[in-house]
Amino acid sequence: MKLAGRVSQVKPSLTLAISAKALAMKAEGIDVCSFSAGEPDFDTPAHIKAAAQKALDENKTKYGPEAGEPKLREAIARKLKTSNGLDYKAENVIVTNGGKHSLFNLILALIESGDEVIIPAPYWVSYPEMVTIAGGKPVIVNTDASTGYKITPEQLRKSITSQTKLFVLNSPSNPTGMVYTPDEIQALAEVVVDTDILVVSDEIYEKIIYDGVKQVSIGTFGEEIFARTIISNGFAKGYSMTGWRIGYLAGSKEIIKAASTMQGHSTSNVCTFAQYGAIAALEGSQDCIEEMRQAFAQRREVMLARLNAIPGLSCPKPDGAFYMFPDISKTKLKSLEFCSALLEKEQVAVIPGIAFGADDNIRISYATDMATIEKGMDRLERFVRSC
Ligand code: GLU
Repeated sequence: MKLAGRVSQVKPSLTLAISAKALAMKAEGIDVCSFSAGEPDFDTPAHIKAAAQKALDENKTKYGPEAGEPKLREAIARKLKTSNGLDYKAENVIVTNGGKHSLFNLILALIESGDEVIIPAPYWVSYPEMVTIAGGKPVIVNTDASTGYKITPEQLRKSITSQTKLFVLNSPSNPTGMVYTPDEIQALAEVVVDTDILVVSDEIYEKIIYDGVKQVSIGTFGEEIFARTIISNGFAKGYSMTGWRIGYLAGSKEIIKAASTMQGHSTSNVCTFAQYGAIAALEGSQDCIEEMRQAFAQRREVMLARLNAIPGLSCPKPDGAFYMFPDISKTKLKSLEFCSALLEKEQVAVIPGIAFGADDNIRISYATDMATIEKGMDRLERFVRSC
């Protein structure tokens, strides 16, 4: 048997693989501290579950429109207008099987052989792989702690060629947790509008920000950039709905139609009754988000203090998301080696930075309870001291 060539060009998702390994070790009775998956440890809020249960009882169990339940598309368009200042209508929105799938549909609809996609590193693990699957070329632009792991307008300008089709912007960022300021976003928008390229803004962590920092969407800086922007978002992180697999894409009618065609031939619609939970999430009280955000904020303080007290590690304070991204280079270990040894010796699961294009770092999720954080940091400290 010969597999398709694209399989050998794509690496399996390390975030999913390590999370699965940690879960399997737990199932064997091993006392693992897992900081691997970016997954809130809270239950989905009760009113969201009740709405999906009601939809199930009402037999909303059939195929639906491929682009999503009309009521949900309308609710998303309303949210984008009122909360984000983005003037979309329901026809500009497609509901997808998670945020990841929204990006996959978009990249399949836009990218073909010869197209370049600019991806600042550290990047979320799946961006370059999706571009490769579509036959395009990921153009990785390295950033470091000196610019807060943010791409500068000069870097963006220099990376654009006649082949560039798309720029991937992710703020708050997975894996670094950094958030671009409004001025920084505006400066990037000015570079984009001088060219023919499009920008996809992955805003999945928009609700998880700290210390009064403001998240703004690149699409809000004028009509020209709005026309070149596609928004990717979802319900997983803000509403603790990771397993529900509901995300969305918003953009021009032409792009949304193309993404719907891709979806129509792959997954059809998103689980019908689950979409009613998503409607309740948007239309119900938003207090649940704030409760979770406050818990993440406390954990962020504790984990950051613990990490920076470990000789040999250094970690900038993230403004958003729920990840720490410390530099481990002083241990002289590469990230995979570091993470394998940490899991084996101390039963602590974290993600090697190499998955995100940064081999001198590791990613630690603090979307977990405080007791696990304290125990895990004790173990991490013992491990680093022994290196
Ligand atoms: N986005 C989450 C993470 O980075 C979930 C895993 C995944 O989809 O890669 O951990």
